[in-house]
This record gives sequence, structure tokens and C-alpha cells, in this order.
Amino acid sequence: MPEHPPSVLGLAHRRSSVSIIRVSLFKFVGLLTGVFFLAGYLILYLAHDLDRNEEIESAFYTRKAVQGLEKSISATVKDYAFWGDAYKHLHARVDTDWAYVRQNVGPTLYTDYGFQGIFVVNATDQTAYAVIDGQLTSDDACGWLKQALPDILLKARAGAEAETPTTLFINIGGRPALVGAAAITPGTDPTVTPDDKPPSVLIFVDILEDDRLETLGKDYGVDELRIATAAELQGRSVLALGKNGVAGSLHWEPPKPSERLLGLGLPLIGIAALLVCLMAWAILRRTTASAQALDASYDSLQRSQSALAISEARFRDVAEASTDWIWEIDRQGRFTYLSERFECVSGLSRHDWLGAPMDQLLCTELGTVTQWLCIPNRRPDISVQCRYVDPKGQPRITRLSARAMADKGFRGTATDVTEEVESRRRIEFLSQHDSLTGLPNRTRLREFLDGKLKTQPTAERPLVMLSLDLDRFKPVNDLLGHAAGDAVLSEISRRLANRVRHGDLVARIGGDEFVLILTDLKGQDEVEALCQRLIESIERPIQVGEQEVFVSASIGIAMAPTDATEATELLRYADIALYEAKSGGRNTWRFYAGDMNSKIVERRRLESDLRFAIKHGELRLHFQPRFRIADGKMVGAEALVRWQHPERGLIPPDTFIPIAEETGLILALSNWVLETALRYASSWPDQLFVSVNLSPTEFKRGSLVERVQRALHQSGIEPGRVELEITESVMLEDPQGALEIMRTLKRLGIRIAMDDFGTGYSSLSYLRTFPFDGLKIDRSFLSRLGATDDDRSVIEAIVGLGHALSLTVTAEGIETQEHLSLLRSVLCDEGQGYFLSRPLDTDGFSALVRVTEGAALTVKP
Ligand code: C2E
Ligand code: CA
Ligand code: CA
Repeated sequence: MPEHPPSVLGLAHRRSSVSIIRVSLFKFVGLLTGVFFLAGYLILYLAHDLDRNEEIESAFYTRKAVQGLEKSISATVKDYAFWGDAYKHLHARVDTDWAYVRQNVGPTLYTDYGFQGIFVVNATDQTAYAVIDGQLTSDDACGWLKQALPDILLKARAGAEAETPTTLFINIGGRPALVGAAAITPGTDPTVTPDDKPPSVLIFVDILEDDRLETLGKDYGVDELRIATAAELQGRSVLALGKNGVAGSLHWEPPKPSERLLGLGLPLIGIAALLVCLMAWAILRRTTASAQALDASYDSLQRSQSALAISEARFRDVAEASTDWIWEIDRQGRFTYLSERFECVSGLSRHDWLGAPMDQLLCTELGTVTQWLCIPNRRPDISVQCRYVDPKGQPRITRLSARAMADKGFRGTATDVTEEVESRRRIEFLSQHDSLTGLPNRTRLREFLDGKLKTQPTAERPLVMLSLDLDRFKPVNDLLGHAAGDAVLSEISRRLANRVRHGDLVARIGGDEFVLILTDLKGQDEVEALCQRLIESIERPIQVGEQEVFVSASIGIAMAPTDATEATELLRYADIALYEAKSGGRNTWRFYAGDMNSKIVERRRLESDLRFAIKHGELRLHFQPRFRIADGKMVGAEALVRWQHPERGLIPPDTFIPIAEETGLILALSNWVLETALRYASSWPDQLFVSVNLSPTEFKRGSLVERVQRALHQSGIEPGRVELEITESVMLEDPQGALEIMRTLKRLGIRIAMDDFGTGYSSLSYLRTFPFDGLKIDRSFLSRLGATDDDRSVIEAIVGLGHALSLTVTAEGIETQEHLSLLRSVLCDEGQGYFLSRPLDTDGFSALVRVTEGAALTVKP
């Protein structure tokens, strides 16, 4: 996998702006909340602290107030007690008039100072003077002060010397009361002589009424000073009066600055927090929206960046993985970029070529590359083939495609197609040439021919086509093997090619078929001279291994424009002429003539007629008797097929058998012959056999054995009375297959004879190897007889050979008495011929059988 560029990785791990903004906003809000909480806490703390301070302060002032109260009562009581007049009028004796009426120590103390109780306790601790709520009474101080009284008295008297009054908080009727007491002394009054009695004690009682407490508090800046309730005793702002608070406790409301502070600060903080929250929310909304937009654009940027990165990577991979190299040139046609592949593919150095002109490296078939690039309206999808030379000096071909760049330069790819072009050239050559001989094949021939015909040949300078077919080539192949056949074909090809001029064409279009196209021949004479030379050159012996092989050729000639101006027609006409040359005895040539075509046409018609004939019973069988030469007795007959044509009359087999063989009709025809012949023969006397001709093609296709079996079965004829005549060519084509079939046929019990012996290769080995019962000497031996004595000795030799191989030797074509005599003299076994009997139709043959039945046929004189 290609490594990702860092930018891709960076992008891949990026958090979205929305989340970043959210996170930072949340952090910020968190921080703010912290700050608000801190501020709140600080305010609370401050408020609490302020409250504490106020509490402490108010407690201080409360204490101060109480102390002031104490001071004031002590001062007052001191003023009244340490006074000589008081000593005189309240201690020495109690002068109510002085004290109360004249208001020296009377109601004014109640009205001015608010002392509810004024007592004078004398030396014997009896209450001597009492003013309650400003009224003179006889109340006992003990009733008000209870058990505190002795203590008061004691402390007051103790302070007499130093004129120090005493104060004490007590509880009266559930309310605290301040008691100030002092021993009554003469003070500084020199007129008074103190007695030695314990001094009387002046006692002022100030019951702390609510309004009194309030005023007191106000004087000291203490709010709501009052008696503490039971509940308030537990809290703060309580001042216990008297020892252990026996007098009760005071309570006040210290000022609460916290309330103002909190009442103002907290809402402010709250509002600020709310505002901040709102702001944060608004900011969040806005920034989220813009962050989303940013994200979206970032995403698309990311996508396009990663797409870019991918396509970059793809480009890199493709550029380096492909066999192509990539180039760029500037407007001057100099290389500005060459991919790495350039070096691997071309073997040239990138370093050397960067900056060099492209035209210096590459050229097209039509000019320079830059010329090609600058063709107006050049289609960018069309490439051009360029050539260059690699460092080893080898020419290489590359296919260039190019696109214009914005800066007037070009870029594109270059594909090395050297091998492709080479192999295409090879394939083209192979597809147009015959692999064995290297000659052009049919395809090339057609091309060449079409090309030549386009140049419009004239009667003066015609285009000559020779269709050349080797004679006797097949046996070479069959007898000497394919390698030999190939060698012969190659040699002949060479010879043919050497006989034509440059610009002419020799093509091999089939096994042993060649076509020559010649353009420089004037007139028939020159053509004939060439054909002569060609045939002569082909006839020269060919050395194949140890052996010398002889072949010859037949040539058909057609010319353009005289015969035809179309390639197909020309070929066909040359073929027709060749056919004529072959049937004209081979080893020769024929010019195409108009009537040749009509012959061919007729042949075609025959072909279709024959098809019809087989189906519709137009075939006839004639039988030609075969006789034993020694005693002239008929031994059997050869079935010979004829065609009773409705218009042309009786057609001989030589005319239609080849057609039947070529068209495949031979199987149907032969089946009919076989079955009909055997059926007829089955009605003949037992000593007569029937002989049936087989076509070589029947050995190749069709189930010959089964067909014979069926015919035997259908006719019911004794197999020993059936003979099949086959020619050498059967063995030439597929000796092994033929041998097997023949052995099977032999097992059926039938006889096999070799027909037309002496016309083909007459290889004696066939006679030895294959299970023949007889051989038929071709009638050409007898027809030539008389000219020389050689033929007689040949016939004699064949008979001797046949006998040596235990074969029944039959002579064909006995036309004269001489023939017969000769055959008798060479001890030929059997004979057949017009002299003895022509082939007879079925009626004729039946008549003959009837006549000769039982008796030997007397040979005609
Ligand atoms: P072939 O097998 O050599 O048959 C003998 C041919 O020689 C016959 O010609 C016959 O009429 C002819 N002949 C017989 N005696 C004489 C004579 O004294 N002088 C001359 N000049 N000719 C004589 P036909 O019937 O025209 O047959 C020609 C060839 O056609 C046959 O040659 C045979 O090869 C083939 N043929 C005939 N019938 C059949 C058939 O049923 N099947 C196949 N496959 N071929 C057949
Ligand atoms: Ca025959
Ligand atoms: Ca024959």
C-alpha cells in the first residue's frame, strides 16, 4: 500500500470545529461558573465576616452600654451615698422629709434616672427607707433583692472606706435589674462626725424595662436591645447579666451588612452569570453555525484534499506500475518531466534527456513529433507511432498520446509497442504466408490480386493467372511420408519462385496447388513458354534423402481482362482450365476457354441430376461375364453401373462415378449397386459369383463392413460367391485402415480382388501384405499388346507373380482372339472382355445364364 501523505493523516484526525468550539466554550463557561462561584463564595464569606464583625462590635457596644449603665448607677449611688447630708439624714437618722419630701433622695431619682427602687438599709440591716416607683413605701428591700441583699450589703460596706460603690445584676420578677449600692458615708463633709455603727447602705434598683433597654441600645448604636427569649439564649448576640447570667440575658440585633451585600451582590452575580450564559449561548449558536459552515467547508476541503492525495497516489502508482512512461514538454518542445519508467522502458537516462528537445529523441513516420503535436484540430485521443533508438542501437517503436497544457506545453504517455508491432508484423506475415514454404497464402493472393486488378490490366499487358497443381504428388506423401512430401513442396516452391520475375507472385493455396500471378507477359506465346519452363523445372528429379522423386504439374491459365476482371472469376476460370489440363492427360497446360465453363455448368447439372437419379431409380446394372480361360466356362460376372438418364440416355459410369465420389453421393449409389447386384446374383446358379466395384472413398467413410453385411443378409447369397474389386489407391491412402477393413470383410467369407493392376504404382508389397484373392490386369496391357513383345512378358510376369501369391489372375479387355490365345498361353486364370461378352443388361445376362446353364460357354470364334 502506498504511504499516505502527511496531509491526509492530519486531516483524518482533525476534530470538527463545532466540537472544538463547543469544548472550548464549555471550558470557558465552566471557568466562568467557577469564577462566579468563587465570587459568590467570597461575597458570602465577606458577608459572614462582616456579620461576625458587626456581631463582635455590637456585643462590644452592648457590653459598653451595660458597663455605662453600671458606671452611671455607681456614679449616682456614689454621689448620693458619700454625701454628708445623706449620712446625716439617712444614716444617723432617717429623715423622710429631707429625703423624700424635699426630694434629696426621693421621687426624682425615679423620674430622672428611672430607678424603680430606692432603699436605705441601716446598720442592723433593716430597711430604713424605701421609695418604689417614686412612691415612699415601707417595703422591705429584702422583698426585692432577696438573697442578693446580704452580699450587696457586704460589698457596699466593704467599699465604704474607699468610697467605692458596688453594682450587681439581679433578677426581679423575671426581668434583669441593675442594683447599685454604696455605704452611706459623710464623704468630705467635715461637719459630720461618723459614728462607729456599721454604715447604712443606699441601694438603687434599676429594673431594665424594654423601652429603657431600647434607649440604652440606641445610645450605643445597638439595635433592638431587649431581654433575650428562651430561644434566643441558644443563639448569638446574647449578653448574660449577673453571675452566670442569673439576672437574665440581653439580646440585640446586630446589624447585618451581609444582607445588603448579599441582597445586592448575589443578584448582581446572578444577573452577570445569566448574562454570561446568554452570551455564551448566543456565541455558541453563532460560532456553531459558522463552525458548521467551517466544518462543511473543511470537510469538503478535506475531501478534496484526500481526493487529491488519492489521485496523486493513484497517479504515482499508475505512472510507475504501468509500462508506459509519462512525459511533459514545454512550449519549446523540451522535456520538463519524464517519469521513472522512462529509464526502465527506453534504457535512456532521464537526467540526460530532461531539458533536451523531444524531437531529438522521437520521430514519427510523417515528420517530427512537434509537427504532429501542432496539427490544427488534432484529436487528443489519437496517438502516433514514433521511433527512437535505444542505447544498444536497437530501433524501438513507441506509441505517443498527447494533450495540450494550459501553458502551451504538452504532456502525455508513451507506450512501448516494439514487440506488439513486431508480433503484429509477424502475425500479418504468418496470416498471409504459408508456414511450410514461406510462399504467400490464399489471403495474400487475394490481396495481391485485388490490388493488381485495380490497376486495370489491358489486353496488351494482361494479368496472367496460372493455377498449378502437382501430378503424382499424393503418392509421394503417402509412400515416403509427410516429411518427404514437405521437402518436395518446399523444393517446388523454390523452383517456382525462381522462375517468376520480381513483382509477380507465387502463392500456395492448397496441399499441392499453387497460383502464380504474372504481369509482365505479352501474348500467349510468352505464357506458354513460361508454362513450359515451369513444368520442366518441376519435372527435374527432387532428391529426398536417398530417394529421387519425380513429380509433374498441370497448369490452367486465365487472363484478365480477356477472361475475367474479377478475382473470384479469374481464380475459378484458372481452376477450370487446370481441370481441363488434368483431364487432358496431365503434365500440360490449358488456357481457359469459354466452353470450359459450360462443361463445368453441365457437370453441375449432372451432379444435381444424379442426386435425383439415385433416389428415383434411374440407375441400372449391367453385368459383364467373366470366363475361365482354360475351359471357357463362365464363372461369374462384374456388376457395372449405368445411368438411364431421361434426356441423355444411358450414361457410362466414368462420367458420373467421379461426380458421385466428389459429392458424397457415392455411398448411396454404391449401396444401391451392392444390394441390387447381390440380389440378382442370389438368383443365379450357385457356381456363378458376382463381382462388385468399390470406390476408394468408401473405405474412408461409411461403414463398409456393415453395408456389405446387410447386403449379404438381405440377398441371402452365399458370401463365397461375392467378390469386391478395389483399386490400389485404397491402400495408398490409409494402408492400416484398409488392411483392417479388408480382414474383416474376409472374415465375412467374401473374396477381394485388386482391380486395374498395373495402372498405379503396382506395388508388389500390397499384394503380399493385403489379403487379396485375385488381381485383375488392367485392360491397357492388352490394348497395347502387339506393338512390342515387352508387354507380353510383363503380362506373363504378372500372372507368374499372382500365382506365386496364390491369387486368381484375371485379364480385362479381351477384345480379340489373339488376346485370348496369349492369355491362355501364359496360363492366365480368368478373362473378361468385349470379345467374350460385352456388359449385358439384366435381361440379357439372365438369357445368357439360361442358355449356358450347365454347359460351358463356347468361346466365340
Ligand atoms: P472397370 O472396373 O475396369 O470395369 C471394366 C470396364 O471396362 C467397364 O467399363 C467395361 O464396360 C469395360 N470393358 C469390358 N471389356 C472391355 C473390352 O474388351 N474393351 C474395352 N475397351 N472396355 C471393356 P464401364 O462399365 O464403363 O466401367 C468403367 C469403370 O467404371 C469401371 O472400370 C469401374 O471402375 C467403374 N464402375 C463401373 N461400375 C461401378 C460401380 O458399380 N461402382 C464403382 N465404384 N465403380 C464402377
Ligand atoms: Ca472392375
Ligand atoms: Ca478394371
